[in-house]
Amino acid sequence: MPKKVGKVTEDLNLQNIVAAQFDEAAALIKQPRGLLEQIKKCDNVFQVNFPVKLGRKLHYFSGWRAEHSHHRKPLKGGTRFNPMVTQDEIMALAALMTYKCAVVDVPFGGSKGGIAINPKDFSEDELEKITRRYTAELIQKNFLGPGVNVPAPDIGTGEREMAWIYSTYDAFYPGGIDNLACVTGKPVTQGGIRGRREATGRGVQFGIRQVFRHLEDIKATGLEPGLAGKRVAVQGFGNVGYHCAQFLWEQDDCKIVAVAEHDGTVWNPAGLNIAELGRHRKNRGTILEFPGATGSVKNAKAVLTVDCDILIPAALENQITLSNVSEIRARIVAEAANGPVTPAAERELLKRGVLLIPDIFMNAGGVTVSYFEWIKSLAHIRYGRLERRLEELRGESLVLHLERSSGQPVSPEVRTILQHGASEIDLVNSGLEGTMANAYEEIRNVFKRRKRIPSLRTAAYIVAIEKIAMSYRELGIFP
Ligand code: NAD
Repeated sequence: MPKKVGKVTEDLNLQNIVAAQFDEAAALIKQPRGLLEQIKKCDNVFQVNFPVKLGRKLHYFSGWRAEHSHHRKPLKGGTRFNPMVTQDEIMALAALMTYKCAVVDVPFGGSKGGIAINPKDFSEDELEKITRRYTAELIQKNFLGPGVNVPAPDIGTGEREMAWIYSTYDAFYPGGIDNLACVTGKPVTQGGIRGRREATGRGVQFGIRQVFRHLEDIKATGLEPGLAGKRVAVQGFGNVGYHCAQFLWEQDDCKIVAVAEHDGTVWNPAGLNIAELGRHRKNRGTILEFPGATGSVKNAKAVLTVDCDILIPAALENQITLSNVSEIRARIVAEAANGPVTPAAERELLKRGVLLIPDIFMNAGGVTVSYFEWIKSLAHIRYGRLERRLEELRGESLVLHLERSSGQPVSPEVRTILQHGASEIDLVNSGLEGTMANAYEEIRNVFKRRKRIPSLRTAAYIVAIEKIAMSYRELGIFP
């Protein structure tokens, strides 16, 4: 939807935004135009209007599942329950999934789905019926299955909904040995993987850490090196926002100076206690009136303009636009949400030397750990189960050997490290950290070494497009 800001009109349609981002990168690489067109276009989109009987009334719902690219299978992407969901938005988010998977070398094509509902308007029983009926529609049209299309959580959905999706699929295909792999983000007790719930926020933490390893990049923003003590503002205290705030606060000594939810912003220049803020929200249903805050306002967008070093939009798209970009004071904007910064706003930020870490890299932790979960579901075994004890035994013998040969006891810290066998969460975090670090290095190399690349976002698109192009070229075209 074009929006007028002063004399300028800004297009806020996410599909047009993603297409423009793609075009900017495509113009800088040598690939046949037809192939680029094939990569850019959404392969297919399924739209469904379905009835559900709730109480004595019949309700109609609109849902979608878009499949952007089949260069790798299955296709992968979240399921969004939000009243503002549209077909264009779902198609744009599916495209972002394709590029994101390529950036982090996750061998899936991009997909996305959603239903235009506000989950808060329905009871748990009603949501279960709606989710199951939507799932049945996807199954009937072959838009769901372990080798076909594998949903995951997104805005308004979580482990509970993923368990319903799995259970519905399992009812349609009883005895299917790989049924668990039809969806990721399941509860751990239902074949999910440890670390998936917090994976996107964890990936944001790992990604920001990797950026901070490059002193020259940090200095170019005007910030001092080192993540400790950095002032961070987070918009959205849901799955992604809560976890990245928690990790940056607890493990990197960042000061979380402001947090926003849909109903307002709270702040404290000395830093908010994120664990207590989380408890306050759980008990009171809002972050407002948090005793540990020095100020609060019933304005969700106020968080964007607070004085901070790193701003993490982790809620919705189109949050930083031409109308508020001049008020952004952060030196780094880390896009944890999909599409939170419009292209015109991004150009302004870049002119001011702000480092923008793009969504197709920054929030790729979720799909990375979803990939690990999908493999776990197909393998039918928890990561680390076979080798953990062996590693512990090796560590114990090593400690014994060291102590015998040196005549000194090994310190308790070193003993703990050596005798620790990797558990599932250790392996998931190790795989995620390595993935985020590699992906950032790849993007940064393109950004630094090639000419005329204006931003990390364009560099990330170039990385993605070149990988997808190679895959399509090798596959050829049928018939
Ligand atoms: P979520 O539903 O768990 O959380 C979103 C939060 O944002 C909610 O608490 C909501 O109340 C809040 N919110 C809504 N409007 C707001 C506003 N105007 N200002 C401040 N807060 C507002 O969703 P999520 O899974 O955390 O997703 C957040 C973003 O991250 C989305 O853009 C999503 O597409 C993206 N993302 C999520 C994942 C994942 O694994 N969940 C993965 C990749 C990307």
